[in-house]
Amino acid sequence: MASKAEIKQALARNGFHIEFLPDTGLPKVTLYKPNGQAMPNLPADSVSLQSYLARGFTFAPPEHPTDENQNIIKCNICGFSTTNKRALLAHMIEHTSIGG
Ligand SMILES: [Zn+2]
Repeated sequence: MASKAEIKQALARNGFHIEFLPDTGLPKVTLYKPNGQAMPNLPADSVSLQSYLARGFTFAPPEHPTDENQNIIKCNICGFSTTNKRALLAHMIEHTSIGG
């Protein structure tokens, strides 16, 4: 498990700053949900952080909160849009199968 100093250095390298509460010594961090909601005072130990990040939490508010428009990707041929990469791939294959 990473030490407090290691966590702090790793975050600092990425331009983030976290506070260690003097009473508990536990690192706390504010993370943001994909929909933009701030989640203050989350435990910032490496295990917790990894699980939060794996769930899509970020250190900074998302530029485009994904409340409704989750990760929309677009076909650059016809403008078809989807949130599903596989669906877009299947769609792109249709273009190629009808000669583009
Ligand atoms: Zn298309």
